[in-house]
Amino acid sequence: MFVFDRIAPDDYEQVVFCNHRATGLRAIVAVHSTALGPALGGTRFYPYTSEQDAFEDVLRLAKGMTYKAALAGLDLGGGKAVVLGDPERDKSEALLRAFARFVDALGGRYITAEDVGTTQADMDLIRRETRWVTGVSQSLGGSGDPSVATALGLYWAMKAVATTLWGHSSLEGRHVAVQGVGKVGYAVVRHLVEERARVTVGDVSPAAIDRVVADFGVEVTPLEKVHAVECDIYAPCALGGALNERTIPELRCLAVCGCANNQLAALGCDEALAEAGILYAPDYVVNAGGIINIAEELRGYSRERAESGLRHIYDTTLAVFALAAAEGITTAAAANRLAEARIEAVGRLNLIRPPSR
Ligand code: NAD
Repeated sequence: MFVFDRIAPDDYEQVVFCNHRATGLRAIVAVHSTALGPALGGTRFYPYTSEQDAFEDVLRLAKGMTYKAALAGLDLGGGKAVVLGDPERDKSEALLRAFARFVDALGGRYITAEDVGTTQADMDLIRRETRWVTGVSQSLGGSGDPSVATALGLYWAMKAVATTLWGHSSLEGRHVAVQGVGKVGYAVVRHLVEERARVTVGDVSPAAIDRVVADFGVEVTPLEKVHAVECDIYAPCALGGALNERTIPELRCLAVCGCANNQLAALGCDEALAEAGILYAPDYVVNAGGIINIAEELRGYSRERAESGLRHIYDTTLAVFALAAAEGITTAAAANRLAEARIEAVGRLNLIRPPSR
């Protein structure tokens, strides 16, 4: 395949292939859009089976970040990086710092962060070569573990679901089934329990279950049943693809609102949910807490400002539901439409020429 044939239809601005033989670095940075600001997105370190897979992944993820940042109300565009390799075997200080130098050469058009296969310690190493990195340690001006913010944002989204379904935002007495009680799932359970919601959880990890039961006394359901629990809100907080041909007919909830990325397994799953009368809160709208939080690092991190940004997820989720109802489209389509409208309208402000320097 020719690169331009692939990137032109979706209007990717820039794709950078980074090669450094001495450290074994092979990486791709994709900048999808800088219409709203520098392209922010994490670096995924993954043993792709082919270069083609890596290329497709970085493009898909970069475009997703454009939509996520736009709808989160940030002055940021969308980008992503992938490093081809096994993080356990191939990661080294020199390789990460070589990668960081390529990021630095983009002069701030792309800002990196943690993702699958990279850690906060890796971001700290990258920081030694470039300032275009977020998610560094608190001692370096970072914002700490993003999952706390993601969970708070998700909680605000659930309150928007409550407002839409029941006319008020309280979750007291509502039943939420949480699939996956890792970093985000555990933290969201805390918010729910504090608000006196009823919570049922399922997880593949017995240790994760033990911890959440010991700390919050929640109910547990066998893993294969968690999506089918009769409840008000089902919250997929584990892996992608939770909403698929098999699970959607088995859902017994009124709404889906969880933090997992890429919950819809295939095109048409959003329509299947709407037909089943289930209110779907689009994943990239409700899990934007992490990016809202790290974006604050770019102007000197303030928890107070970050938390006020997280509350914005409540309004955005309501706006998505309202547009879907008004236009008779799915909530996933409504989210995309709102993101595109903001990119178009705010992006056009760049046409107002600043004074010459
Ligand atoms: P995590 O790895 O800490 O937790 C995931 C949990 O899901 C683990 O406890 C794991 O045992 C469990 N799990 C795995 N497979 C499962 C299955 N089939 N059924 C039930 N449980 C299963 O990850 P996390 O940081 O909590 O992130 C959860 C999801 O949210 C991921 O999809 C992630 O991409 C997405 N997300 C996370 C953040 C963040 O800030 N951490 C931000 C945006 C999106």
